[in-house]
Amino acid sequence: MEFWLRIDDGKLAGISFITDGCGSSLACGSMATVLAAGRTIEEALILEKDEILEALGGLPPEVEHCAELAANTVQAACWDYFSSLDRPAGKNGNGEMSKRREGESEEQYLERLQLTSRLGCIRNKIVVLSGKGGVGKSTVAVNIAVSLLSAGKKVGLLDVDIHGPSIPTMLGLEKESIIGSSEGMLPVEQDGLKVMSLGFLLESQDDAVIWRGPRKTGVIKQFLKDVAWGDLDYLIIDSPPGTGDEPLSVCQLIDDLTGAVVVTTPQKVAAVDVRKSISFCRELKIPVIGVIENMSGFVCPGCGQVTRILRSGGGRMVADGMDVPFLGEIPMDPGIAEASDLGRAFVKHLGQGPALEKMKMISEVLLNLDIETKDQGAL
Ligand code: ADP
Repeated sequence: MEFWLRIDDGKLAGISFITDGCGSSLACGSMATVLAAGRTIEEALILEKDEILEALGGLPPEVEHCAELAANTVQAACWDYFSSLDRPAGKNGNGEMSKRREGESEEQYLERLQLTSRLGCIRNKIVVLSGKGGVGKSTVAVNIAVSLLSAGKKVGLLDVDIHGPSIPTMLGLEKESIIGSSEGMLPVEQDGLKVMSLGFLLESQDDAVIWRGPRKTGVIKQFLKDVAWGDLDYLIIDSPPGTGDEPLSVCQLIDDLTGAVVVTTPQKVAAVDVRKSISFCRELKIPVIGVIENMSGFVCPGCGQVTRILRSGGGRMVADGMDVPFLGEIPMDPGIAEASDLGRAFVKHLGQGPALEKMKMISEVLLNLDIETKDQGAL
């Protein structure tokens, strides 16, 4: 049995087949073409034997294998198409096909496959998490992304912090809105950095508060699926804070996250939140790249000395206690807030002193991660 596909705009605009098998094989092949026509490639990839059998009203058990052959051959034709494009479909960054998870409905699996195909050309996907808002998660995400870009990497920055998508403001992109294309929504480009934020969809920042519960996760899902990133070395994802439904949707939908960076502040009370974030990653099997303790000490604008104004060491203590890497302490530096208010990334504008040094060191860790990923891929 062989199938030929005509693909138009990611969908099976035409499908035909030949078989030199028996009448059942003819019936199954023909039903497979009917069922697959008009589907997206990802949808055609999950065409199953049972679906064909059901549509045919059943077949004698001794010829049921014809339905399996038809389903498998349609899938193989779809894979051939993707290999010819060199665009991985339903495959994660390691080239593995995403499998259906236990308890996952077909619809959920399909959703995840579509997303995996979307993000398949991105080598490293790093989510930035925090136990609560206001600890500098978005600031870290922006500065990491811009540092990686300065190191010559192709970088995307995705802001899915539905509570306060602040990245457009931090990069001076508040007036930008989303441009659609046949491939999906196009990220806004700034000096080579590809940026996509839920903020671009909102008339005003206050609009986020009208989304509630399931509506919020629906918006996040839709948004993740619809962005056309193209090839990237890194995608930095600014997640909603906490460990609730919203960060959960982000982390569950992207099933091959390279890892998570957890941002916290130095006080002891923040330790509870950072522990929760690490446990959250462990439950979801997301590698913890490391913990960053932000606003750790204060950089005097006059002499550049770091003074400990709050109790410090909370982030390191938790990282050590839970056996995850500690990436460093970023001090409180008025230049960071000022750069952000000016719509610029600190590492490129106003950046100097200990805060800049620490941000550079953290980016080095992420750059090495890419080398390790590549090495693993070469094995
Ligand atoms: P979150 O994303 O966790 O809600 P933000 O990144 O939006 O937090 O940071 C909250 C505020 O704190 C912003 O005004 C930001 O400029 C400021 N900020 C973050 N980190 C620092 C720092 N190390 N020094 C000075 N200001 C900082």
